[in-house]
Formats: sequence, structure tokens, C-alpha cells
Amino acid sequence: MKILDEIYFYPWESMTENNCNTVFIDGEVPTLVDPGHTHLLGQLFEDMEADGVSPDDVKLVISTHGHPDHCEGNEWFRQRGAMVAVSKGEDDFLRGSGGDIYRSFGMEPPETGPDFFLQEGELDVGARRAEVLITPGHSPASACIYFEREKALIAGDLIFQGGVGRVDLPGGDAEQLKESIVRVAQLDIEHLFPGHGPIISGQENVMANFDFIQQAFFQML
Ligand SMILES: [Zn+2]
Repeated sequence: MKILDEIYFYPWESMTENNCNTVFIDGEVPTLVDPGHTHLLGQLFEDMEADGVSPDDVKLVISTHGHPDHCEGNEWFRQRGAMVAVSKGEDDFLRGSGGDIYRSFGMEPPETGPDFFLQEGELDVGARRAEVLITPGHSPASACIYFEREKALIAGDLIFQGGVGRVDLPGGDAEQLKESIVRVAQLDIEHLFPGHGPIISGQENVMANFDFIQQAFFQML
């Protein structure tokens, strides 16, 4: 569904299969963030096509982090000529203990590395400017993508509506997760796109969610 001019959100709503939310950013460099599992791409494509967006047009795929429910489907796009970007720390992770997460679900970690690494700071996506924040905790070098003009944050599995990403998988770290949450809570956010669950809209709701998370989760983590 279209949320903002050129920004589309595809929530994963099935209760029976785990998969992530996907964000599509149209423009000079049509960009897809976190396509999800390969075998579930068909549902995503149906939803995109209903919005008049073609998966074949995607030129860049960004992974917030290396978990299979976010980026197993990257390969489909790579084979059709799209570039793939992930942070260096996540790529290193996948070549080490992160690969075990794939193997524990009967999958193989991606063989091919990204076309370029996401780095802390500005990312030019055509005429559109985005900011990459490396926000470890859920995984060693997860990234959030922030669009300042749109006041939109793609948060991956750092934070959800009423929850946080798990820290018990290999490479997870509760203290880092808390630091990363405190950091992104400083941003001016009107639209928060989490990696799972519903979008959080409106600055007041976004702030209330950050407050709730800090009060309800920080002591337990
Ligand atoms: Zn994850």
C-alpha cells in the first residue's frame, strides 16, 4: 500500500508463516528494502502489482540485516540485475555464526556478497537522500534507513509496535539494542516502518511507542 509519495509498505500479515515487512521506494532508483523469504515472494509481488509497481523494475535491494526472513529473497532480484546492499558487519556475520541461523532452518546462507556495503551516513538513492544508521543489537550490524524529508524510518527488527527485536539469536546483544533504540528515538519520525507488525504513524504515536518500549522492556533485557 502507498503510504507516502513514492513510498510503499507491504506488511506481512499471515499468522502461519514468518516473513518480514517490505518497503518499496520508487523514483530514479526503485529500491526494495527486505524482500523476505524466497518462497513467499509471490505474495509480495501480487501486492506490489496491485499498486502498479513491478518487481522487475527494482534496481536496488537493501537488507536491514542478514536474517533469512528478511533477505533470502535478495537473490531473485540479483539474478534480474538489481544491486544488493547490506552492511559490512552483517556480511561478515553471515560468513560466520550468522550462517548457522540459515542452516538451522535448513537453508544455505547467501553465497554472493553484496554489490556494495551500507555505511553509516548518507546514502544517495538517485535524487533521494537517505541516511543509514548502523544499529546493532538484534544482529551485529543491523541498519535503519531514515528519510529526513519524509520523516520516515525503516527500522528492521530493532523496534516494533509494542516490542523489540529478539537478542537471543547468534550475534544479538541486549545492551547494544538498547543503545540503538535510544539513538533512533532522537530522530524526528512521523512514519515508522518496522520489520514485523503494523506501521506506526504520527509523531506522537511513534514517541509513545519509544517510551513504552523503554519502560516495559529495558529492565528485562
Ligand atoms: Zn531479524
